[in-house]
Amino acid sequence: MIRYSSKINKIRSFALGLVFLGFIIMYIGMFFRTSPIVMAIFILLGLLSIIGSSVVYFWIGMLSSAAVRVVCPGCQKVTKMLGKVDICMYCREPLTTDLQLAGKEFDEKYNKNEK
Ligand SMILES: [Zn+2]
Repeated sequence: MIRYSSKINKIRSFALGLVFLGFIIMYIGMFFRTSPIVMAIFILLGLLSIIGSSVVYFWIGMLSSAAVRVVCPGCQKVTKMLGKVDICMYCREPLTTDLQLAGKEFDEKYNKNEK
């Protein structure tokens, strides 16, 4: 069975990945201590990646406030959903705001043909 993760969680792990990437790039830069220019480029790239992740975190904040709060029918917790279909952040129950799609198998593609 394919496990979907909720969109906000997906973006959050992407932002976390960017932070790690930034540190790794800066760490690699330390091996080029003999050429300050190369080291500076690596540190700059690393910093950019970390700045990028804070931008993504900010974006998550915006998305979270734009997301619709719904009570999950599966676990009765309040979860946030983006778009027409999303899944519960707690129990991975598929959720939809579109009654025509209710009861159907969860599919990411329903978000793409919005009218
Ligand atoms: Zn749930």
